[in-house]
Amino acid sequence: MLADELEKVLHCEIKREAPLSPLSTLGVGGRVECFLEPSRMEDFQAVFALRSREGFPLYILGGGSNAVFGDGLVPGVLLSTRRWNSSSWREAEDTVSVEVQAGHPLSSLVDEAARRGLGGLEFAIGIPGTVGGAVAGNAGAGGRSVGDLLTEVVTVEPEGALRRRGRGEFIYAYRSFPLAEEGRLFLSCTVALRPCPREAVEAELGRFRSARGIQPRGERSAGCTFKNPAGKSAGQLLDECGCKGMSVGDAVVSERHANFILNRGRASGADIVSLIKACQERVFERTKVWLEPEVKFLGFGRDAPVEFAREKDGPCAS
Ligand SMILES: Cc1cc2nc3c(=O)[nH]c(=O)nc-3n(C[C@H](O)[C@H](O)[C@H](O)COP(=O)(O)OP(=O)(O)OC[C@H]3O[C@@H](n4cnc5c(N)ncnc54)[C@H](O)[C@@H]3O)c2cc1C
Repeated sequence: MLADELEKVLHCEIKREAPLSPLSTLGVGGRVECFLEPSRMEDFQAVFALRSREGFPLYILGGGSNAVFGDGLVPGVLLSTRRWNSSSWREAEDTVSVEVQAGHPLSSLVDEAARRGLGGLEFAIGIPGTVGGAVAGNAGAGGRSVGDLLTEVVTVEPEGALRRRGRGEFIYAYRSFPLAEEGRLFLSCTVALRPCPREAVEAELGRFRSARGIQPRGERSAGCTFKNPAGKSAGQLLDECGCKGMSVGDAVVSERHANFILNRGRASGADIVSLIKACQERVFERTKVWLEPEVKFLGFGRDAPVEFAREKDGPCAS
């Protein structure tokens, strides 16, 4: 049994058949074979080392704010960074940097930077989830993204080794960080910020906060469903194609912002995926643009929409 193998090498509790829906902001999914929340670096490494020998499915979870979970019993391990969350601040001549562990909430980092009178992270106000999740998806808003602020990242490599990379040794793009897509875990990163008058930081925070007014509030979602295709807004394309209000079961396209899919109550992972496919098909039929999901699918195997995106001839924007 996988749980027994994990028990031999780990210090943390192994939760068997843990329910998935409480672990994401969207609130869908079945159960996962093993759920782990390590607080020691060696446990993260040990899981990767065991996986490279045994070959079980391994999923990484931060705050679950960009995640859609599969239904039923998902085989393998869900590895949460939530308990690996400290930060340490260092002042240099004209910058202040913070080394922050993956599970640290992004919102706390934004608040702490503002409290210290540091600029650079204001765009991230209102982005839920962890710092690790933000790096993995190169989260951003208003043309700025987390990748721009990173001076160093520390990863657990696929076979369990640790690796530290400085700027110039990693690449990122719009909502994409290939080190994560290739199966590494971001353990920590260093973010560089610049001292700024408090009023200027507050003004920037206010500007980014008000830009969020168009998003649905107090609803269960995983943020924007699709990436913006080059030069276009996914939300606008979806709206123009009449996707607002489309639904499958309790999964519905928000009337307020067409790029948000909401769980009205009892949606399943399969409902969300069917609705995503229906939106992709409709937009493709009418515009010949193939929308690539921004949300991440954990526990769907070959049904993950990234697979069927590749089947299309249409452009996959990133
Ligand atoms: C209301 C709302 C508003 C949002 N607004 C924005 C926005 O403005 N801009 C934006 O970019 N996003 C936005 N999002 C999406 C989401 O909040 C971000 O993508 C966020 O950065 C995800 O972080 P997380 O910790 O929740 O990641 P999770 O959802 O836990 O994981 C997302 C992906 O990252 C991987 N991952 C997580 N942690 C790590 C790690 N340490 N190492 C490697 N891989 C990891 C997971 O395996 C998964 O593939 C929004 C979401 C919601 C619900």
